[in-house]
Amino acid sequence: MREVLIYCRDHRCSHHIEISADRWPDHARLSDIEPGFVCTACGKRGADVRPNFPQARMGSG
Ligand SMILES: [Zn+2]
Repeated sequence: MREVLIYCRDHRCSHHIEISADRWPDHARLSDIEPGFVCTACGKRGADVRPNFPQARMGSG
């Protein structure tokens, strides 16, 4: 997991950002990371973290 998408917990806001996952150790759990985010658009605390898989790598085996 190299890149992740951070989605705002507020679905009406739906603000999301793409960041590098390099800041976290490999053993970090998403459940530990998610509460630490604060949405820069609406200010809501907490986020949904999802892996961002580059589409270009699909089908390469
Ligand atoms: Zn938000």
